[in-house]
Amino acid sequence: MSDHSHHADASGQPGVMLPLVHELLSDTLMIPATAVTGLLRAIATSWTASPCPACQKSAPPYAAFLAGVADHLDLECIAAAEQFASPTD
Ligand SMILES: [Zn+2]
Repeated sequence: MSDHSHHADASGQPGVMLPLVHELLSDTLMIPATAVTGLLRAIATSWTASPCPACQKSAPPYAAFLAGVADHLDLECIAAAEQFASPTD
């Protein structure tokens, strides 16, 4: 368990967090859903593609969970966009 100290060094996955942090720092309070889903999928991919055998073994369920959250966000945002785009009353 403690042999996972290598994860404290994020240099193995450059560019995953930076776009989101940039959005937060640039007074862009509305983070595009695509940025969030992209971040979730990038994290999931970084886990399953990890060179660490222990991570590769334990990653699939967590990666699947993140992918499920991303899918749910996509559906919710599409539903919300359609609601605002076509006022029915
Ligand atoms: Zn690991």
